[in-house]
Amino acid sequence: GRYGLPGRITVAGLGISGISAARALAGLGATVTVVDSGDGDAHRAKAAELAELGIEVRLGHLPDGARAGETLPEGTELVVTSPGWQPGSPLFRAAAEAGVDVVGDVEIAWRLRGAGVELRAARRAAAAADAGGDADADAERTPAGPAEWLAITGTNGKTTTTQMLASILKAAGLKTAAVGNIGTPIIDVVLGEEQYDVLAVELSSYQLHWAPSLRAHSAAVLNLAPDHLDWHGSMDAYAADKGRIYEGNTVACVYNVADPATEKLVENADVEEGCRAIGFTLGAPGPSMLGVVDGILVDRAFVENRQKNAQELAEVKDVNPPAPHNIANALAAAALARAFGVAPRAVRDGLRDFRPDAHRVAFVDEVAGVTYIDDSKATNTHAAEASLAAFEPVVWIAGGLAKGATFDELVATSAKRLRGVVLIGADRALIAEALARHAPEVPVVDLDRTDTGAMLAAVREAARLAEPGDTVLLAPACASMDMFANYNKRGDAFADAVRELAAESE
Ligand code: ADP
Repeated sequence: GRYGLPGRITVAGLGISGISAARALAGLGATVTVVDSGDGDAHRAKAAELAELGIEVRLGHLPDGARAGETLPEGTELVVTSPGWQPGSPLFRAAAEAGVDVVGDVEIAWRLRGAGVELRAARRAAAAADAGGDADADAERTPAGPAEWLAITGTNGKTTTTQMLASILKAAGLKTAAVGNIGTPIIDVVLGEEQYDVLAVELSSYQLHWAPSLRAHSAAVLNLAPDHLDWHGSMDAYAADKGRIYEGNTVACVYNVADPATEKLVENADVEEGCRAIGFTLGAPGPSMLGVVDGILVDRAFVENRQKNAQELAEVKDVNPPAPHNIANALAAAALARAFGVAPRAVRDGLRDFRPDAHRVAFVDEVAGVTYIDDSKATNTHAAEASLAAFEPVVWIAGGLAKGATFDELVATSAKRLRGVVLIGADRALIAEALARHAPEVPVVDLDRTDTGAMLAAVREAARLAEPGDTVLLAPACASMDMFANYNKRGDAFADAVRELAAESE
């Protein structure tokens, strides 16, 4: 079919990426059916909008009693799925039986990147014809091919690193955007008005699972820790999906020297001739690595000047915030940018310009000599361990929904930094037990509360435990949904509580 797409496509899931895929594919001439087993008011409203565009939407129970999201519409030639859908879903079993491929929105975006270039050229030509001029002058300024993709995955740090990379690419004067798991749906970006030179693409393990033909220019796996194992089935399956990001890379596969599992993925990947393995480390870099020497981020992998054996990129203090895990993120972003040919100066400028998203190791206030930091985004133990490593002595506020995690390793590695701990949320007993095993001397306040006032109570308890010069860190190591709508709301509640504390202490 047109643009290499089959004529009849089923989109699974009426979420943001499903709606984007359905609109785009219908816009390119495919016959699109969206299926979703939900059928609430919100679903109906979205279905009505898509119906206006000639897209059929099947919701809830079908007339024959089957659920819409579980049966494959007649004649389907391709299924486009949404990230949350389990690989074992009945719809995908039905697709497998019918010999129909299942892919995600990232795969569609990848396949349509040439179509995006054509569509923009056609629009420009039409606009120029309207204006009575010719399109050639404009065409000369536009890159001939689609944007290159620099891809990032990992258990933690994906969004931060992707945004840092985009900031560096911008500082180098390139047209770029941070996309994938963030921002505008990736299909809309690829087909949109803007012609980009290069995209910084954040990819989740789900998206990688469903993107078999993606071939990035260069890619990084930041770290690998157990997460989402319910979806992938096992750690091996999770790692294999993450490792897909390296398949077919042309210039560089970036891995974390401190996390040998990431290097193993590079070794197992099938890459293009000449593609290099590039490590990043918080220590002094070996050959083909980026690392840190005397507070300076240095590059020994992509050295421009033959007289030098390392290139200085930036200072540690150029990284926001300069916590160890975030310096690792900066090195990964720098490695990808350097693989793309970006100069050291732009790496420094881009890192200086970068501001992290809210609730990621964010400074809230200083009250009575104590610093309050909001890392509500630390929703798993690996993330909390990284942010605890950046502060000492620290009063740690933790707890929430554990999602099947164990806390022994986190508590054992962090014990010596802890001034005290305040526990909130549904699964706090799991953390309390780990603390009793590995940090019996650390004072623990077990709040036994999940109500809306619990955060203010937690902050007050933390303030009591803290001494001037200490940090109070919200890094829950748990999901927020037992007490809050999401991690944003949890972080906001923390910041509000700190403000209240500050007002009281004036
Ligand atoms: P993701 O997009 O992978 O969820 P974010 O950039 O949003 O990652 O960061 C999520 C949380 O993970 C942060 O709040 C921080 O606690 C932690 N984190 C960030 N970078 C790293 C890293 N390189 N290693 C471990 N933890 C990290």
